[in-house]
Amino acid sequence: MASSSRVVLFFELLACLLCPFELTQGKVKEPFTLKNLPPLQKASSYPAGCATTYDYIIVGGGTAGCPLAATLSLRYRVLLLERGGSPYGNRNVSYMENFHIGLMNMAPDSPSQAFISTDGVINARARVLGGGTCINAGFYSRASSSFIQEVGWDEDLVNKSFPWVEEKIVQWPKIAPWQAALRDGLLQAGVAPFNGYTYDHVSGTKVGGTIFDETGYRHTAADLLAAGDPDNLRVLLHASVHKIVFDSRQGRLKARAIGVQFTDENGRHHQAFLNSNKDSEIIVSAGAIGTPQLLLLSGIGPKNDLKNHNIPVVLHNKYVGKGMADNPMNSIFIPTRSPPRQSLIETVGITEEGVFIEASSGFGQSSESVHCHHGIMSAEIGQLSTIPPKQRTLEAAQKYAHNKLNLPKEVFHGGFILEKIDGPLSTGHLVLTDTDVRNNPAVTFNYFSHPQDLNRCVYGIKTIERILKTNRFSELSADGAGLSMERVLNMSVQANVNLIPKHTNDTESLEQFCKDTVITIWHYHGGCHVGKVVDQHYRVLGVSGLRVVDGSIFSRSPGTNPQATVMMMGRYMGVKILRERLGRAAGV
Ligand code: FAD
Repeated sequence: MASSSRVVLFFELLACLLCPFELTQGKVKEPFTLKNLPPLQKASSYPAGCATTYDYIIVGGGTAGCPLAATLSLRYRVLLLERGGSPYGNRNVSYMENFHIGLMNMAPDSPSQAFISTDGVINARARVLGGGTCINAGFYSRASSSFIQEVGWDEDLVNKSFPWVEEKIVQWPKIAPWQAALRDGLLQAGVAPFNGYTYDHVSGTKVGGTIFDETGYRHTAADLLAAGDPDNLRVLLHASVHKIVFDSRQGRLKARAIGVQFTDENGRHHQAFLNSNKDSEIIVSAGAIGTPQLLLLSGIGPKNDLKNHNIPVVLHNKYVGKGMADNPMNSIFIPTRSPPRQSLIETVGITEEGVFIEASSGFGQSSESVHCHHGIMSAEIGQLSTIPPKQRTLEAAQKYAHNKLNLPKEVFHGGFILEKIDGPLSTGHLVLTDTDVRNNPAVTFNYFSHPQDLNRCVYGIKTIERILKTNRFSELSADGAGLSMERVLNMSVQANVNLIPKHTNDTESLEQFCKDTVITIWHYHGGCHVGKVVDQHYRVLGVSGLRVVDGSIFSRSPGTNPQATVMMMGRYMGVKILRERLGRAAGV
């Protein structure tokens, strides 16, 4: 196979977090009724000088923001401001088969906004109502009980909040052959016991939930808005919040957040304000990139960085944007005799060593997935990483894209097994590049800068080698005799899609392989850590009337995959806030 073919092949595989789930297992759920959804209005509909004030203004209608807004609206007047559009009627969001097309769409109104960390790893962040749940791979798995204890959550409320989400939007997958092979391979390789179908985080091998239903239709956090009170909940789309407004009058002990400034889809500026109740709050749920970015733009952060961008300092806090982490992922491509059926992540191996093993497959059957235009963030750019930076032009990318059209479909036969490490000790930071909220800040994750992370990656690759040697995987190879690790490592290096320079010893040194082929599984988190930027209740330290509820408060990503816990946290914090204000009368 030509090396460029392998690159494309790998990307097709990578983008495979792309392919449709098939049927679901067990009983089919009653469809969750969305008839109670509040109207989804464009931000331009917000009247100039609008006199309405709110108990809560939530910035970011994402994975945490939607369940939070729905819950608070049961008793209070809530304004939810989301910079992206509606997920409804957008086929790239709603259908799993279009996952990769959505992810590669570079248009300014795409639900996915690509960014490249300074490490050279291509990444993506959501820009749509429903947030990450509209562009992700759908795998649903709860945080471990030790994680819940560590963060200090009320276990009883956690155990009520997870099912609140699950009853509405989560299903069991009917396990696909590649996922069944991984299950058997994991067990034969000693990642035991088999824990069956479960949302729980338990050592061994299991099958988790999914937010895709049996037809491959995606259910998202936006659906959870239907659980709110539509009379109390105003949702504005294409509302990009660029500043939190503070009352810093002299005599105040702390600056108080009182409102926000946002821009609508036509670029017109608006303001929205809280009412005068002392408990009213702005809650930022803009995600691990968007939340630290907005705090910085609003004057909360390291004062020298703020001054560099001429941002008036509201509060000096050197920790805003610090402690950013992304769980490094490395993948091994495994060619097979016949094309495996398409599958996203369904099975996971949870090892005692803090390494998770997952897999996906099925990129050969869909003519669309081979021939579709992936845009600038596609395999073409991965191939560009193999040529000198000055030659990485758009023309070169287009040439690669054209060549891809001529690839025989046979080269897309196979699947891949990936490993990612839990709680990376390597951390980085986020800094503003400019003051335009629409632009990505510069993010650095420093993958594998901590030796323990590298050791765990090597352990993960060795675990994949053990899986590869099992009968189950030998049977899948062209001659039934199995594949050598050297061969699959070689293919995986050549097919890699990050922008990190490769080395000649990549297949001899697993450490070098890990460093050079690191990619993301999009579980980045941090930037507003508890005790540094927010308190135990996620109130921003040093100011009043401002909270953060999203993945930016985490020091480690929960569970094998975070969305379950992030949605749960939105519901959990909503109920907690209601109970704090209303006591038992909250009735939730
Ligand atoms: P988000 O869900 O991103 O919400 C932030 C919201 O704020 C967005 O809607 C954004 O548009 C909005 N926003 C940002 N800035 C502003 C602003 N200034 N003004 C107004 N609005 C703003 N997890 C899993 O568990 N399983 C998976 O299979 C999985 N696969 C993934 C695949 C991909 C491609 C990605 C990107 C993620 C994946 N994840 C997965 C991770 C998971 O989806 C995220 O960790 C989670 O969605 C983050 O939730 P959040 O609430 O912190 O942020």
